[in-house]
Amino acid sequence: MFGWFRKHFMPEAATPAAVFDEYGDDVETKLGAADPWGSLKGQVALITGSTSGIGWAMAEALSCRGVKVVLNGLGDRAEIEANRRALEVRTGAPVRYHDADMTDPDEIAAMIAFARKEFGRLDILINNAGVQHVEAVEDFPPEQWDRIIAINLTSVFHATRAAVPIMKAQKRGRIVNIASAHGLVASPFKSAYVAAKHGVVGFTKTVGLEVAQHGITCNAICPGYVMTPIVKNQIADQARTRGISEEEVVKTVMLAAQPTRQFVTFDQLTGLLLYLVSDAGASANASSFSVDGGWTAQ
Ligand code: NAD
Repeated sequence: MFGWFRKHFMPEAATPAAVFDEYGDDVETKLGAADPWGSLKGQVALITGSTSGIGWAMAEALSCRGVKVVLNGLGDRAEIEANRRALEVRTGAPVRYHDADMTDPDEIAAMIAFARKEFGRLDILINNAGVQHVEAVEDFPPEQWDRIIAINLTSVFHATRAAVPIMKAQKRGRIVNIASAHGLVASPFKSAYVAAKHGVVGFTKTVGLEVAQHGITCNAICPGYVMTPIVKNQIADQARTRGISEEEVVKTVMLAAQPTRQFVTFDQLTGLLLYLVSDAGASANASSFSVDGGWTAQ
């Protein structure tokens, strides 16, 4: 029975352990590794906000499976170029970079056009760029509200509206929006972020319904806390706003909500991503997938 399952769904797998273990390993180990959901080689992915954190982990996961990747995000240009080149060399799959600012609709449209021009198609769009600001609502600076809504929510609309016609013409596409547990539940002092992420979850449902008959899916991944720069930066802010130590923030604010009391890892997120973008993910549509250790079940 298991042999039959393996033959049809994990054709290249040496052993089941080899399939699942590799999500926890580094790029070199992932290179050439078998995938349970089939090959993605030759597909084209654009990942917004992929110069660090979750976006970079997703870029690595796709690139080492032969996907042609367009990176995007802020940061030191020389460092971004060095990382881009190193990834390309390690995986052998072409990697490009576009510097679109996610607050600018014209730059977002130009970035989508760039992906198609460079690689001739666009199979996977991951709307991942995001920022945070932690402050009580009465003190929340309006410019921070506008910035968070623009980057975390409005950019998802602009990238999606530019990508859908390309995907419709291909009769295939995968849109994955990186929302958050905060797309499903709230926490105090994060009014803009929670509003934006709830918006992303709603937008995901609507787009999923619109594209369902075109071979396209649109889903949201809702991670709990992952230790990335966006979280590291919050620890000090939360400590200040709540009047507690940074250690207490991690223990009593962040991981208190996460029943596993563990940060979510990059590999746990890319495992789900690989399923959603594969052919096996064709019926997973217009949905939000929680990867939060059980946080939002409470
Ligand atoms: P991160 O700070 O490491 O990455 C954010 C990325 O967005 C960076 O590449 C940054 O350059 C880019 N970015 C920011 N402003 C931009 C702009 N104006 N234009 C273009 N790019 C811009 O943080 P992360 O934790 O990897 O966050 C990635 C996504 O995951 C975000 O949408 C975030 O809300 C979401 N998320 C993170 C966590 C977590 O605990 N880390 C949990 C749930 C959801």
